[in-house]
Amino acid sequence: MSLEFATRCIYGNKEKFEKDLTGTISFPIYQTATYAHPEVGQSTGFDYSRLQNPTRQQLEKVVASLEHGIDALAFSSGMAAITALMEIFKPGDHIITDADLYGGSIRLFDNINEKNGIEFTHIDTTSVDVAEYIKENTKAIFVETPTNPMMNVVDIRKVASVAKANNLLLIVDNTFLSPYFQNPLDLGADIVIHSGTKYLGGHNDTLAGFVVTNSQEISDKLRFIIKTVGSGLAPFDSWLILRGIKTLPIRMEKSQENAKAIVEYLLSEPKVKKVYYPGIEGTKGYEISKSQARGFGAMLTFEVESAALAKHILKHTKLIPFAESLGGVETLLTYPCTQTHADVPEEVRIKNGITDCVLRMSAGIEDSRDLIADLKYAIDSYDGYKALYI
Ligand SMILES: *Cc1c(COP(=O)(O)O)cnc(C)c1O
Repeated sequence: MSLEFATRCIYGNKEKFEKDLTGTISFPIYQTATYAHPEVGQSTGFDYSRLQNPTRQQLEKVVASLEHGIDALAFSSGMAAITALMEIFKPGDHIITDADLYGGSIRLFDNINEKNGIEFTHIDTTSVDVAEYIKENTKAIFVETPTNPMMNVVDIRKVASVAKANNLLLIVDNTFLSPYFQNPLDLGADIVIHSGTKYLGGHNDTLAGFVVTNSQEISDKLRFIIKTVGSGLAPFDSWLILRGIKTLPIRMEKSQENAKAIVEYLLSEPKVKKVYYPGIEGTKGYEISKSQARGFGAMLTFEVESAALAKHILKHTKLIPFAESLGGVETLLTYPCTQTHADVPEEVRIKNGITDCVLRMSAGIEDSRDLIADLKYAIDSYDGYKALYI
């Protein structure tokens, strides 16, 4: 018997609450670097916190259970997780990635991994035949869905079947939907990535990252890498993410509800030219989303009529901060072209639709009426502002 998702967010996959001597309800923070051995040749299972720490291990068990993996490894950030994962490849290997990815992932691939001899081809996996880009040295396909920031939806089952047929690993960055809405391992992926900084933590207060897998061989390689490179998550940060996960289901539901209300308002706003959200019926990603995910999430992107208006909105919302990151209880607005995607070459950025008129929003869990009023105030005040300054 396996427990339901919301219960596993609180207890992991243990079917019985295991009381320790104190009866503590909150899992303790084991703030220790090292552990005493019972005698020579024996270990408590914990030797040194770079390798294992009970608080980190509890978090890893919960995340593995939420993503239906056999193992999850917790790193000090999402980028630390992806960096460690890239160590399973070697010089001469080729990896196909989606062209519309988190800017930091592209920066890592094109500047660090490529320098170390790994080759990358970035393609729009939502519109081309991925199989055509496979070479003799191709080892993996790396996608993110919905993509950041354009909200394209990658058909995970379809890409997984190409990967399987060609003996490639499929890696899916599942940060945007969280395991509450989507489980890529069930759809054929081999490895799932999370920036735990986002929905898993959920409070814009802690950096964390995860690699989850259902392969023992990959898990063994990653356990060797984490103990060697030393980028595992600290005990206190592990505890903060454990605490965040307890409310993941209710946060995901509320922030999705807010995103839907904001999308509805933006679609009715004449100064907004386009809204990108997979939950808009009739759009390319809608049907695929419905077939592979349990929800559309709370991330949305919209294009306004001019760059001047985009900048005006960022400066004139009273409540919603102009800040990077996403997935927290606070609604945030960002400007991908100068912030999250500043390091993506301009021609690639424009080709992907990330113009200077595009804004990205992460809906939080406030009252949506306040959020819409704030956005409306920022948009409506633009005409008066123009009259004043032009
Ligand atoms: C934020 C993010 C990352 C990087 O995670 P950090 O925790 O900021 O290092 C990777 N992928 C996606 C989709 C992200 O949103």
